[in-house]
Order: sequence, then structure tokens, then C-alpha cells
Amino acid sequence: MDNGLRNEYLNAMGVQQWVARDAVVPVDAPDWTELENMVSGCTLCGLQESRTRTVFGVGNHNADWLVIGEAPGADEDRQGEPFVGRAGQLLTEMLFAIGLQRDDVFICNILKCRPPGNRNPSTEEVDFCHAYLQRQIELIDPRLILAVGGVAANSLLGLNEKVGALRGKVHRYGEQEIPLVVTYHPAYLLRSPLEKRKVWKDLQFARAICANGQAE
Ligand code: URA
Repeated sequence: MDNGLRNEYLNAMGVQQWVARDAVVPVDAPDWTELENMVSGCTLCGLQESRTRTVFGVGNHNADWLVIGEAPGADEDRQGEPFVGRAGQLLTEMLFAIGLQRDDVFICNILKCRPPGNRNPSTEEVDFCHAYLQRQIELIDPRLILAVGGVAANSLLGLNEKVGALRGKVHRYGEQEIPLVVTYHPAYLLRSPLEKRKVWKDLQFARAICANGQAE
């Protein structure tokens, strides 16, 4: 069976296939304005049919921290800004707890458009969108990537692991080997508030890596 067909079947069964994303075709966007224009007009994966607006990302273009989530939800799709719903408010509070405002970091998602009904992104959608994210990473050149949730973490690392197995380590992203730390998604914390302690630990771990290039 060829790979395309295999992926189609696996996607239809809800089995996510993450692949290492070294071979992404770069987008020809020399600066932020051009990149944002490309994203807002994107029709590559089909999600333009259902989106209200694209959700490019917000924050500091020279941030040390790049926070990457999964995909816009209903609130984000309406407002065009990532992490503005209940989970987003919790993310903002989590950042605030370690001394960071939203404007200090850059926040974006693996996907720039909302998958209908908040389903998981398909492999194809992630593949198409990855070139935009890759260009954002190049332009920001962050000291640290914080991947929130399993979809973001596994997609960036080309793995298929539970968040619990990915936490507490420094992973490396891409050719630049940017330190990448994984933590739970705030939507999960809304359902399991006792896990907030673990996220607090992850954020302190991330802060130490960002400050020293290594854990405290
Ligand atoms: N969940 C995400 O992963 N990203 C958002 O922007 C909102 C909710």
C-alpha cells in the first residue's frame, strides 16, 4: 500500500501519524508582513472552507520564548488571536506566574486555522501549515520553544509519545537545535487542575534553560 493511502486510512481511523519535518518546503516570505499575508490567504489544506479567520500568532517578534499550541478553537477563530478562550486565559496566567506577560513571548499554533468541531489536526493539515510555522521560528529565532500539549510536541519532534513521557527533558528542534520543553495543554489543566503543579515545574525548568542554556 502506498504511503499516501496508508495515511488516509490511518487519519480516517483517527490514528495520528507524526513525521520529522526536516523536508519542509520553505515559504518565500522575507518578512512578517508578507508571511502574515500568505497565511491569511492560504487555501492549501481546505480549512479555509470552515474558518472565520486565520490565527497567525501574537506577541514579541524578538521573543526569547516561543509558545506553540495545537490549533485555534472557536474563540480564536472568531477573534483571530491564539489562546483567547478559557484555556488561553489559563495559559496567560501560567506565563504571568513565572513573570512573563503575553507580550513578552510569541504565541502561535501548529495550525493557523480551526479544524471543524475542534477535531485533531490531520497529518496533511500539519504538513501544509508547517512551512509557515517554520518561517515564524526562523524570524523569531527564540532561545526556547514551549510546546503545549501532545499534538504540538509530537508534531514538532516527529514523535508519538504521551506528554508525560516528554516532560522534564530538553528536546532540540530543527537544525538550529533550539531547546524545546513540553508541558500539558491548558485545556487539559481545566479538566485536571491537580496537574497544574507539574506545569509549574515545567515552566520553571523552561525558565532555567532559557536563562542558562541548561536546567537549574
Ligand atoms: N488551544 C490551542 O492549542 N490553541 C489555541 O489557540 C487555543 C486553544
